Amino acid sequence: VYESGQNRNISLDDVFISVKTTKHYQYTRLPIILKTWFQLAKEQIWFFTDIENRQHQNQTNGHMVNTNCSASHQRKHLCCKMSVEYDRFLESGKKWFCHFDDDNYVNVPRLVAVLQSYNHQEDWYLGRTSIYEPVKIYKKPTSSLLFSFWFATGGAGFCISRSLALKMLPVASGGRFISICEGIRLPDDVSMGFIIEHLMKKNLTLVPEFHSHLEQMKLLPPETFRDQISFSYSKMKDEWNVVNVPGFDTRYDPTRFLSLHCFLFPHFKFCPR
Ligand code: UDP
Ligand code: MN
Repeated sequence: VYESGQNRNISLDDVFISVKTTKHYQYTRLPIILKTWFQLAKEQIWFFTDIENRQHQNQTNGHMVNTNCSASHQRKHLCCKMSVEYDRFLESGKKWFCHFDDDNYVNVPRLVAVLQSYNHQEDWYLGRTSIYEPVKIYKKPTSSLLFSFWFATGGAGFCISRSLALKMLPVASGGRFISICEGIRLPDDVSMGFIIEHLMKKNLTLVPEFHSHLEQMKLLPPETFRDQISFSYSKMKDEWNVVNVPGFDTRYDPTRFLSLHCFLFPHFKFCPR
C-alpha cells in the first residue's frame, strides 16, 4: 500500500505532533493524554490551547502553546488554532506535521513506522476521509460545479510532509490560513483539504489507520490495535462510542484510553500486572 521503502531513516524526533485543545477540556481530555501517549513523545507533542495553566505548563515542560485564539467551537476560532499549529511546525524545522484532536489516542510507534514509508522530501497529505464523495463547490447564480476536493478528517488526525507544507507557505503561513478559512467559509480540516487538493493540486493519500469518532470505535478488532495510528471517543447523550478493549472498569476509564494504553504498553506504571 505504501510507497516503496525509501527514506526509512526518519525517527520520532522528525515529527511535529500538534494537539488541538481548549480550556473547556483541560481537566477532562488533557489529563488522559498526559497520562498515556504524551509520555511516549514528550519532546515532540505540542498542545495548542486558549488558556494559561501553570500546572500543565510544568507537566509538559512548556509544551502548552497559548494560541490567544478564542475558546469556542466556531469555525474562525478553530481555524485560528490550526493556523498557529501550522506556523509553529514551519518554525520547528521538523520533517512531518501531524495534527490530532484532544479526543484522539495516538499509537506513537505506529505513527512513526507509517511515516517511514513515505519520503518527507516529496509532497504528502496523509489521512482519512469521513465522507463518501468530495466537497463540491458550486458557482452561485447558475449552480454549476466549479471544483471539488477531498479532505482528511481533523478528528482522525492527518500528516503533511515538510515539502508540501513549504509549498503552502505563500497561501497559508503567517495567519493566512485563517483568511482562507474565512474566504471559503469551511472548517479548518476542510480548508486544509481545499488548500492542498485544490490550490496545491496534491491529492490526499488515504491512510485507513487513522480513526475518528465518526466511525464506530467498537468495530475495530483488538488484534489490529497495534497497527492503528489513532483512535477516538465520543459521548452522545448516554451512549459512549468507544474502543472495545479489556482493562479498567468503565466508571474509572469511560473513554477506554487508559485501558487501550495498557493493552499496547502493558509495562506502564499505572497498568495492572
Ligand atoms: N475545540 C476547541 N474549542 C472549543 C471546542 C473544541 O478548540 O471551543 C477543539 C477540541 O479540543 C478538539 C476539537 O476542537 O480538539 C474538536 O472538538 P470536539 O471533539 O468537542 O467536537 P467535534 O468536532 O469532534 O464534534
Ligand atoms: Mn471530537
